[in-house]
Amino acid sequence: MRFADVVGHARPIALLRRALATDRLAHALLFAGPEGIGKRLVADALAAAVVCETKGTDVCGACPGCRQLAAGTHPDVLVVSLPQGKREVPIERVRDLNQFLRLQPLRAARKAAIIDDAHLLSLAAQNALLKGLEEPPLGALMILIAHNADALLPTVRSRCQRLLFAPLSSEEVDQVLRGRLGIAPEEIAAVAPFADGRPGRALALRKLVHTDGEPPATRLERLEGARYGALVPLATHFSRSEDLAAFALESLLRQYRDTTDPGDRAACGRAARRADIVVEALQALRRRNPNRQLLLESVFLQLARR
Ligand SMILES: [Zn+2]
Repeated sequence: MRFADVVGHARPIALLRRALATDRLAHALLFAGPEGIGKRLVADALAAAVVCETKGTDVCGACPGCRQLAAGTHPDVLVVSLPQGKREVPIERVRDLNQFLRLQPLRAARKAAIIDDAHLLSLAAQNALLKGLEEPPLGALMILIAHNADALLPTVRSRCQRLLFAPLSSEEVDQVLRGRLGIAPEEIAAVAPFADGRPGRALALRKLVHTDGEPPATRLERLEGARYGALVPLATHFSRSEDLAAFALESLLRQYRDTTDPGDRAACGRAARRADIVVEALQALRRRNPNRQLLLESVFLQLARR
């Protein structure tokens, strides 16, 4: 990954390249910002620039260091991430990281470690990380990535230079999905309005929609006048993830907005009352981490009755 291949994030990238060019890169960086916007790609590009042997501010892609990194065998780059099926990054991973950082670089001028999902580091893991942050091994670079930086200990946060990453513009989301990933326009149209500037979210939704066999909009049409027995499986279907539940609710809002005749006052009143129910549910979903199945059943039931 090269900086030049990253879509968006011009400001943090310019900062990083300047720091690289003047050899003033902090020993620990915290990449903070919403999930699915490309923080990890920038971290990958930075780690690659650090171990590239041409010592420029972007990656050459051709030196032995770059080739080893591309093959996933570079000895001076380590990625710490959430183990599959776990909810926390355990302390053992940070112990491995500390061990890695203590040793001299083998090939590059300095070592680089990416700590993905840093907000999921267990408390013990964060305390173990603190040691490395307080007495950084010479030349080591640590990049912490967090979409919920508040979950990190203040002592961890304060020892990192924080870089804020913002959601992408809709043109940039399109550039990622269509330009970089070559996704068909009709597939993009189905999910991009719900991406909130996060290509990762659009991709996750696309995957969910893809494996469903039936477009979500068709499924939601069944709400009209449905009985309780038919609403339960519908709620089960859309409660599989928070993103999918939000997607269903946002789709309903859109549907009310796009299909209501502005000249029909009675219809506008009905649509507004339905929209209120959906907006309230969306807020509950985002703020309170509710039981999604029960929440959707309740919303669908209220909508089906109206
Ligand atoms: Zn190189």
